[in-house]
Amino acid sequence: MASGQLSRAEALACKGCRHACHVMLYCDTKTQLFGKIPLRHIILMQMRFDGLLGFPGGLVNPSKETLEEGLGRELLEELGVAVPISVEDHVDSRYAPTPLPSSAPLIAHFYVKKMEEEQIIEVERAAVTTATDYGQEVLGMVRVPLYSIRGSAGLACFLSHSFIGHARSQLVDSLLRFGLVTPDLLHKALRHSLETHKDNAKDLRAALELTKAKGKQP
Ligand code: AMP
Ligand code: MN
Repeated sequence: MASGQLSRAEALACKGCRHACHVMLYCDTKTQLFGKIPLRHIILMQMRFDGLLGFPGGLVNPSKETLEEGLGRELLEELGVAVPISVEDHVDSRYAPTPLPSSAPLIAHFYVKKMEEEQIIEVERAAVTTATDYGQEVLGMVRVPLYSIRGSAGLACFLSHSFIGHARSQLVDSLLRFGLVTPDLLHKALRHSLETHKDNAKDLRAALELTKAKGKQP
């Protein structure tokens, strides 16, 4: 088992731990961007209430429900449609960062489920129509661009955004584990992401200057 990872049984044996379950839902697709760039797979993530990108899911209470039942309940709230998740979809469990050192340890359980393209599209529709969390805990579903255009556009730019908890490494790990992009494309995208990150920092400093200047106006 990789460092920091816990088996499902070890995780459940932790008394006093809190548990959160999240899932990466994805499908294959033949759709092409601009009629020529294959999208290959649709992977669903979401823009969360805290401005971070993450996977659908949330806190579960293993004393009252199984991890998978709890995840199903969270998915119904966030996606507006029932998406049954089973133990076979479990990928890993590990301790997650907690906002305060004093808060109870949090174990993040991660699942990956492959679906049909029509089901993924139904989830996207339900997420903005029937989901009770839409516009509150969930600001919108997003697809992960898996291609690279002119070096940094596409996957590289996507990976340079800010993610909750382990979401970025869960995404990167799943892309490799399930063969959704080539290791070479992913490696190059991550190198470009670091560059994009530097550009973002420059851009943010310029925006900060702008707010300072505005603040001085009468
Ligand atoms: P949520 O209700 O989705 O915000 O998730 C419940 C808890 O899990 C929160 O404390 C989040 O900070 C944390 N969390 C959310 N997504 C992840 C993730 N992908 N990896 C680790 N922790 C996460
Ligand atoms: Mn959530």
